Amino acid sequence: MNIISKRTSLSERRSGTTGGKDKHGIAAPICSINAPIAILSRDGIITAVNQPFLDLLSAQAHDVMARPLEGFVGTEPFSASFLSRLLKERCSTDIRISLTGTTGEDVPVTLSVAPTDGGAGRTAFICTATDLRARIGLERSLDASDKELSRRVAYIDDFRSGVLHMLRDIDSGEAALEAAYRQLQEAQAELMQTGKLTALGELAASLAHELNQPLTVIKGLSQSIMQSMRVEARDYERVKLITDASRKMELIIKHLSVFTRIEPPETKLVDLNGVIEEARIIVGQLLAGGSVKLDLDLGAPPPVSGSANRLEQVIINLVTNAKDAMPDGGTLRISTATEEKDGRTYARMSFQDTGHGIPADVLPRIFNPFFTTKEVGKGTGLGLSISHRIIKEHSGEIAVETEPGKGCVFHITLPAASRGAGA
Ligand code: ADP
Repeated sequence: MNIISKRTSLSERRSGTTGGKDKHGIAAPICSINAPIAILSRDGIITAVNQPFLDLLSAQAHDVMARPLEGFVGTEPFSASFLSRLLKERCSTDIRISLTGTTGEDVPVTLSVAPTDGGAGRTAFICTATDLRARIGLERSLDASDKELSRRVAYIDDFRSGVLHMLRDIDSGEAALEAAYRQLQEAQAELMQTGKLTALGELAASLAHELNQPLTVIKGLSQSIMQSMRVEARDYERVKLITDASRKMELIIKHLSVFTRIEPPETKLVDLNGVIEEARIIVGQLLAGGSVKLDLDLGAPPPVSGSANRLEQVIINLVTNAKDAMPDGGTLRISTATEEKDGRTYARMSFQDTGHGIPADVLPRIFNPFFTTKEVGKGTGLGLSISHRIIKEHSGEIAVETEPGKGCVFHITLPAASRGAGA
């Protein structure tokens, strides 16, 4: 590598000869350095350069020699005062600036300046530049690769979380599908039950109708025979048994008719206490033989408007359930009262038992038609759904409170009949 001093000819430079030392006495070994080098006088004038330095500026020797380095300095931070400060510091390394070559292109470099022997006791400066273009290019492409990498990592992350989401969705979808399938199976079973029970209901309705007529004959005749007999007569008690049995049958047929809806719904003024009293015969029969104690606490509920027969059906259903929930005995408390709510008056009827209560998973389904937890042949799953329907027909509410292991309370509230309602 040549070092080109002010007096070095171009031909000499091209032929690779250096002449050993220039007029400033700069040592020839500098010529062999591959890095761009310039020798500056104390006041920053270029007194010698090597070929790599000229290449850096795309210049010929005569373009740069005897000119201040400052003239080739491009943009900030290398201001005019910078060089003099640099020279004052006498040794500065790796200052990042740009040099402007003859083509006008800004070449980014790092510059290191160090004092050197300028010959004849004078100080000069040796200025080494490192071309940063390749490095900056590399840095840029590294930066771009880095960004691309981050983008791909983010994409993979997104993809992974998307896949995870999808898997989770598939999981929950599968669970929902299974639940829907289970519901469908239950609905199918309930539908089959509905079919069977509809047929059963029709049979019961026609039986009730058919039985009514002979029963009226039996009841009427036995009553008139009884009336024609003296109480002390030998067969009086036997005929009375026939009359009592026919009354019971009449009651059973009456309930069968309510259940199968042969009777049109009535709207009369109904006293709930009276309905409870009426239902007592059947309730007594239901509870007979078990060890369930009946506790009546009848208040003074206002009359409601509706059908005593239908409300009696509700009472029988709730008593049946309470009895079934207390196979080892317990207490069933039936109470009535007046309730004031939102400025309106209601009649309330409550059925509190000390049975096994209703588990939380069963509770939401108890009013569904054909839902039963009782063994086959014991429960139809209709008691509560029919009761719910009857209470709704009366514009009332039926609600349950329960604590598993401790029992249940079914509350029925019915709006008090308005004045002049019923007949
Ligand atoms: P069924 O009595 O034929 O089962 P219901 O509709 O009357 O039909 O009752 C539905 C279910 O509600 C019952 O199988 C039972 O699990 C539950 N249930 C109703 N009343 C009570 C109660 N007093 N105590 C505990 N469980 C009850």
